[in-house]
Amino acid sequence: MIATTMTDQRVARILVVDDEPDICTICTMALRRSNDVVATAGTPEEALHLLATDSFDLLLTDILMPAMTGLELARRAQQIQPLLDVVIMTAQASSSVLEDALKNGIADFLPKPFDVDQLRLTIARTLQRQRLRRENVRLSTLTHVIEASRAFAHSLDQADVATALIAALQRETGLQCIHVVLDSGSVYPAAGEDGCSYPHDGAVPPNALIAPLTAHGGQLGQVWLIPAAGQPEPQPTEVMLLLLEHGSLALYNADVYATLADLDHQKSEFIALASHELRTPLAVVLGYAAMLRDSLEGRQQEQVTEITRAALRINDVVDDLINMRQLEANEVTIRPQSIRLQSLIRTLCAQLQPLAQERGVELLSRAPRRVINFWGDHERLLLALTHLVNNGLRFTPSGGRVIVTAGQQRAEQGGNLVIAVDDTGIGIESHQIHRIFQRFYQVSDSRTREEGGLGIGLALARTIIELHGGSLTAQSVPGSGSRFVVVLPIAPVSEPVDDDAHTA
Ligand code: ADP
Repeated sequence: MIATTMTDQRVARILVVDDEPDICTICTMALRRSNDVVATAGTPEEALHLLATDSFDLLLTDILMPAMTGLELARRAQQIQPLLDVVIMTAQASSSVLEDALKNGIADFLPKPFDVDQLRLTIARTLQRQRLRRENVRLSTLTHVIEASRAFAHSLDQADVATALIAALQRETGLQCIHVVLDSGSVYPAAGEDGCSYPHDGAVPPNALIAPLTAHGGQLGQVWLIPAAGQPEPQPTEVMLLLLEHGSLALYNADVYATLADLDHQKSEFIALASHELRTPLAVVLGYAAMLRDSLEGRQQEQVTEITRAALRINDVVDDLINMRQLEANEVTIRPQSIRLQSLIRTLCAQLQPLAQERGVELLSRAPRRVINFWGDHERLLLALTHLVNNGLRFTPSGGRVIVTAGQQRAEQGGNLVIAVDDTGIGIESHQIHRIFQRFYQVSDSRTREEGGLGIGLALARTIIELHGGSLTAQSVPGSGSRFVVVLPIAPVSEPVDDDAHTA
């Protein structure tokens, strides 16, 4: 099992090779003072043996040794450890030898005799270059991690995230057999879907590396990295740890999303059931209230009227709940038919006149005399506009005014239908304007609380308008009023002057 922490390797491991024991001693003493780990070898053979068994960052070797030249040792050493840097100590060498050596991967030269400071400086410079180079490699590797992590982040499906994590780990480790084993019981890839089978008895295969998947302080499961038969146990790398960290978070998010989606489904089912169950008793209340009202007089009749009004409010809430459910389930559909703009506006205002009177707000409408017919869903558009006018009436104090203005833009402006609902009400702060179209958003002031509502009217209205290919926007001046503008890019059919064209 590995822990998901990273280590910082700043201590360098240096191998000094010289057939002069004194040189080895001086180098060891000089370099140890800078905290580096120094090993020495008196012959190239001894050096190659050390290189085969231990890892080094730098080889500092004499150029002239009896058994093998320093350059040949460097070549063989780099075959064993390709990332090794080599510095050659030389008493005399021609410039062409030096140039050739540099081209063949020698990092630097140290001319003999050298003083301790020179030695330290050359080694420090070489190690610094090496660190920069390694950092460069690390950064480009991290780019792959970022790309992989983007792939995780783009999915909210646990199986997809697990598959992307496995693919990224396979690329990083070269291993084929990798499993994501979640505490919830899910295993990816599922049994039989991969070349290597997951040991369903839960027994960890020999040499497997087990990495924990943790996020937000809790364990989600493990990743099993299983080497092929006879291969050594895989070793954790920084990239692997980062992939595990990012993958864990993405798996956690996918789990949360699945839970939320499930809750959402349950909520939707509940709303469907509750609204259906409320409809019938409401119809009974409204029916009997209507009959009672006719048979009563005076105060009692007023009381029954109050019952009817309250029941109608509940009915509106039930309507909103049903609409909200349709909205969330993307079930709002459009059934287009030919609509006469003037009669749409007339119906709208006729329906809302009683509310306007009750509120003491004047409701006016303006439409052009020229008849305009267009294609749209009459019922849905009426619903959308009803929400806009209803809001105007609710958020305008008594004595105010709501005006519905309908018309058509000039051809050069696009020829769209434009319906504006202006009120002289309380208005909306500019920072709230874009939010009022979000589901359940209500401006948090006492007026909104008094008016009730579910905060879905504008979201529904915008969806309906957008399903018609149009737009719904709002402008407002707090304290002065608001303007909601519907633009419907529907090619209208013009007809002769309508006798009914009106200003109500
Ligand atoms: P609600 O059912 O709560 O009215 P809406 O989605 O229709 O939901 O409106 C969201 C919120 O936007 C309202 O609660 C109110 O705060 C604000 N709002 C909408 N129309 C107006 C308006 N004409 N004037 C002032 N505020 C408004």
